[in-house]
Amino acid sequence: MTARRDELADGLARVRARIADACQAAGRPVSEVTLVVVTKFFPADDVLELHGLGVRDFGENRDQEAGPKFRQVRDQLGAAGARDDVTLHFVGQLQTNKARHVAAYADVVHSVDRARLVEALDRGAHAAGRRLGVLLQVSLDGTTGRGGVLPQHVDDLAADVASRDLLRLCGVMAVAPRGMDPDASFARLEEVAGGIRDHHPEAGWISAGMSGDLEAAIRHGATHLRVGTAILGSRPTLR
Ligand SMILES: *Cc1c(COP(=O)(O)O)cnc(C)c1O
Repeated sequence: MTARRDELADGLARVRARIADACQAAGRPVSEVTLVVVTKFFPADDVLELHGLGVRDFGENRDQEAGPKFRQVRDQLGAAGARDDVTLHFVGQLQTNKARHVAAYADVVHSVDRARLVEALDRGAHAAGRRLGVLLQVSLDGTTGRGGVLPQHVDDLAADVASRDLLRLCGVMAVAPRGMDPDASFARLEEVAGGIRDHHPEAGWISAGMSGDLEAAIRHGATHLRVGTAILGSRPTLR
């Protein structure tokens, strides 16, 4: 084992233990919670090491990085005779003009927050001839500055996604606003998720919780955690 693989194995084990403890405290089976490992800023080699450690769900937030990195990952898995069983989650704010490209390689987009983006992803899915999972990113601080649709507009956006034949409405996603109690934020998200499920029973995912607040997310029904730093270490900062 390489030193990096040891590091990643340790980080993964620590996060899996936190998830197990939080699920037990919340009276939820661990099987309800999927760990998405966010590999942004880290190289394809780390993704391959994590795959070797059993990770199958990966998150990325920038098109220009994610596209080439996961092409490399899939090529190398194929060359090694491994099955391409990777699920790639796009979790970052997405510009409309990048949507078509992202629709060609991502499996699920967590950050859908406006009708124009739904339209662009739908076109991209048709152009690529593939299906795409969609989560509605919900803004929990009353503003849309950092992305996310306001809770009062979620129903319309959900209906729009559900009407597209190649888009599958999976559920909701949120980032807990800075300075707000994560439990209060995730409780609100859980409420919004319940409202969507009244009309779209298949939309059962709640993507919530990162390195710092995954326990709170699990207390409030998270089905998908997006964890980077706690597994891979701190990201190199952008200049
Ligand atoms: C980077 C990122 C994460 C992971 O954050 P960590 O604090 O490193 O666990 C989760 N969600 C989104 C949307 C991100 O951009």
